Amino acid sequence: MISGSEEHIFQFPRKGRIEVVCGSMFSGKTEELIRRLKRAQFARQRVEIFKPAMDSRYSEEMVVSHDKNQIPSTPIDTSASILLFTSEIDVVGIDEAQFFDEGLVDVCNQLAADGIRVIVAGLDMDYKGVPFGPIPHLMAIADEVTKVHAICVGCGQLAYLSHRTVADDKRVLLGEQTLYEPLCRSCYAKAENTNQYE
Ligand SMILES: [Zn+2]
Repeated sequence: MISGSEEHIFQFPRKGRIEVVCGSMFSGKTEELIRRLKRAQFARQRVEIFKPAMDSRYSEEMVVSHDKNQIPSTPIDTSASILLFTSEIDVVGIDEAQFFDEGLVDVCNQLAADGIRVIVAGLDMDYKGVPFGPIPHLMAIADEVTKVHAICVGCGQLAYLSHRTVADDKRVLLGEQTLYEPLCRSCYAKAENTNQYE
């Protein structure tokens, strides 16, 4: 039995498409990206992985998930650079896509038009619940969207966003392990109302 998102690997090896895997921090989105890319490699497809150059929290040239599963990647500064590396490639993975410029949308469309399977992983929302970077646009044009969820540390339900546990208004703070916690809607509302972290 082949699950829905991977059926096309065997039926249409060169059919371009866009898949988005998104969710909060600690939701397993990078793990899911790596899982899909590794399965493509097992199917002898040529895979290339990109991430924003700014995301160097663990390693310059590896995409690394929180559980230390990793895969070699190319750090790039702008989304347009992806097109320089993708001739002769079957599958393109893009991690931390929320940090890329809006040009990523056109880049993904062009890759898919060229017959490439594009798998994009990123945060759907920032710590205030605002849709993040090019992710909402990518979700709209994607062939398939997968939302993955962390577990709320307050009550054990599915989490809705990554709540920041320190008072800082900058949109991006790297070093996320200690600065954020996954919360469901109601625990997030409680945390905001009580200002318990400010
Ligand atoms: Zn909760």
